[in-house]
Amino acid sequence: MAIIDRSYIRYARYAVQAYIFLFLLYAGYAFHHIVGQYEGSISAGGLTVSTLLSQADRPASIEGFLPIGALMSLKLWLTTGFFDRIHPAGLVIFIAALVMALLLKKSFCGWICPVGALSDAVWRLRQQLFKHQFGMHRWVDYTLRSVKYLLMALFIYIILIKMNPGAIASFIEGDYYKIADVKMLYFFTRMSATTLASLVILFLLSLVYRNFWCRYLCPYGGLLGLLSTFSPLKITRNNEACIHCGLCSNNCPSLIPVERLPSVRTPECTGCLTCVSRCPAKGALEISISGRRTLHPVVFIIFVTLLFFGILGIGRHAGKWQSSVTESEYRRIIPTASALEHP
Ligand code: SF4
Ligand code: SF4
Repeated sequence: MAIIDRSYIRYARYAVQAYIFLFLLYAGYAFHHIVGQYEGSISAGGLTVSTLLSQADRPASIEGFLPIGALMSLKLWLTTGFFDRIHPAGLVIFIAALVMALLLKKSFCGWICPVGALSDAVWRLRQQLFKHQFGMHRWVDYTLRSVKYLLMALFIYIILIKMNPGAIASFIEGDYYKIADVKMLYFFTRMSATTLASLVILFLLSLVYRNFWCRYLCPYGGLLGLLSTFSPLKITRNNEACIHCGLCSNNCPSLIPVERLPSVRTPECTGCLTCVSRCPAKGALEISISGRRTLHPVVFIIFVTLLFFGILGIGRHAGKWQSSVTESEYRRIIPTASALEHP
């Protein structure tokens, strides 16, 4: 049997995840600084904001944390042709995630999403500290996995079915949505005791059960998972070449029993390629295109990064990136942010 080492795949993934995670940390810090300047100058009664900031300073990529708003914007765009001018980058990132899911499995979750990256890192840390693995009963696991699909169905029902384009347009043009990014920032920087307790519980659950948030609760991942079933790419196992070492199943972040399957068709697969990376038997585990041809992992990695950054680049180039909320609007709305309730 020919032994192969494809560990470069997971190091490439860690590198992409780390780059995006660190970039978003920086973006979050920069945005915090910008919002702080608005708050500071206003509380001091000054109007120095416009001399310190411009719209171009605001890191638009933070809008990736507003997927529910992006789902509304998508419906508005598809039904009326109006492209969200308040958080256009959020819609561009959302479109990138959807296109990636349709073509390259749930690779947005496996390669791009900072929550997925954090969840992965927590698990790797935990493996260094404790060897004991906690199992979950199969039916409890099935039941809990349905939660993210139920949440997804709820959002789809409310936004895609119940809300008409007029209602979405007035929400998008309202003050609440204009500073939805600031509200998201406050979620972290002005954390309530309940939020903190929820995050601690989630962290502890992620230490006990691998990828707890992504596996059971994330409706965004649920939507991408369903779309990913249309992807022509599948992880395929060749039983003749397989030596049944179990490394694929034991290392799969989504707990998929790869070793027992001829090909991975479940919406839980994130296309992370951990299984392919760990498989030591040449030709045993490959990425197949419509079950006929194989795709080299390096080409897959290039496609993932090109597709994601390419769609973001197109959005930028088309002028669908920077928010058109004006500085005077920020000056007017940000001081009222804490009191501003969802309409
Ligand atoms: S089956 Fe392979 S590609 Fe899919 S989630 Fe598991 S390890 Fe990642
Ligand atoms: S497909 Fe899985 S079980 Fe088979 S050789 Fe590769 S890692 Fe081992």
